[in-house]
Amino acid sequence: MTNYDDHLNSAEHLDELEQAADLFDGHGVDRGQIESATRTLLAAAGEDPEREGLLRTPERVARMYDELLAGYRLDPARLINDAIFDVEYDEMVIVKDIEFYSLCEHHLLPFIGRAHVAYLPRGKVIGLSKIPRVVDLFARRLQVQERMTRQIADFLDTALHPHGVGVVIEGLHLCSMMRGVKKANARMLTSALCGTFSSNDTTRKEFLDHLARGRAGFNL
Ligand SMILES: [Zn+2]
Repeated sequence: MTNYDDHLNSAEHLDELEQAADLFDGHGVDRGQIESATRTLLAAAGEDPEREGLLRTPERVARMYDELLAGYRLDPARLINDAIFDVEYDEMVIVKDIEFYSLCEHHLLPFIGRAHVAYLPRGKVIGLSKIPRVVDLFARRLQVQERMTRQIADFLDTALHPHGVGVVIEGLHLCSMMRGVKKANARMLTSALCGTFSSNDTTRKEFLDHLARGRAGFNL
């Protein structure tokens, strides 16, 4: 089992995200309020917030939300503005299997999975390493998967003015899995298609065929 505190302390990816974009404005979540709310929650659940194992839990929870909700304090436009290049390239660009970790806004439980992002450039391309960062930024907010999918597509559409953008997200929702209500619905597939990805069958098919390679396939 991994040591959760070590995991929290490392937060390397987040640091990288912030340093890369020089965006950290110092205003994260209100840790003090989260700590006191966590103490209230523990007591309301019938626990003793003062027992040894729980003593530092409010502090850990506050630090955790600061990390998991970092997407609120990062500006996606500034994240990518030094990484957009004028290039004559008209083939589809695809970044597949981008791992993401988000929190469902209905239950504050994680949904995790993979995002697949593609676009057809029109004179501008974005540095490839930035696409996973854009996904990460929108994931680190309270989300519903459909909106997150749409936000990533709309953002790239606005930033790059490409011929089209396609985003497909596969998510596993712990709120369904852990509560055992709708296990069959725990895995969710969402897509957002702009421009030629929605209007041109060949473009859409090229994208989906690429995603389907080596797996069961996508029916959109
Ligand atoms: Zn949920």
